[in-house]
Amino acid sequence: MKRETPEQVFEWFKNEVQKLWPVAKGSFGLRKNTCVRSDCKACKKGKGHPVYTLHIGVKDRKTSIYIPEELAGTVEKAVSNGRELEKLAVLAGERYVKALKRERERERKKK
Ligand SMILES: [Zn+2]
Repeated sequence: MKRETPEQVFEWFKNEVQKLWPVAKGSFGLRKNTCVRSDCKACKKGKGHPVYTLHIGVKDRKTSIYIPEELAGTVEKAVSNGRELEKLAVLAGERYVKALKRERERERKKK
């Protein structure tokens, strides 16, 4: 790994984090609903009516947001980015702490 400074790690992180927008954290679910219409083609074919939901749970705060079908792709991408963001935070933390330690070593040698 490169011998980077904490500032360089920050610059790298800012650059990477920008690519991960939009971001969401939760579980994205698809459920098929059947409707009450007796002659519904979608229900007869067994396709039903897809209902997309984003489930968000943070400690004691849990909520579900209904997602219109045309936004499903975007929300799914956001959830996927959310997972990537967590990985990025792990990597950033590792590089940052290592850079901090190197900086400390350099400071010590100066004295
Ligand atoms: Zn139906």
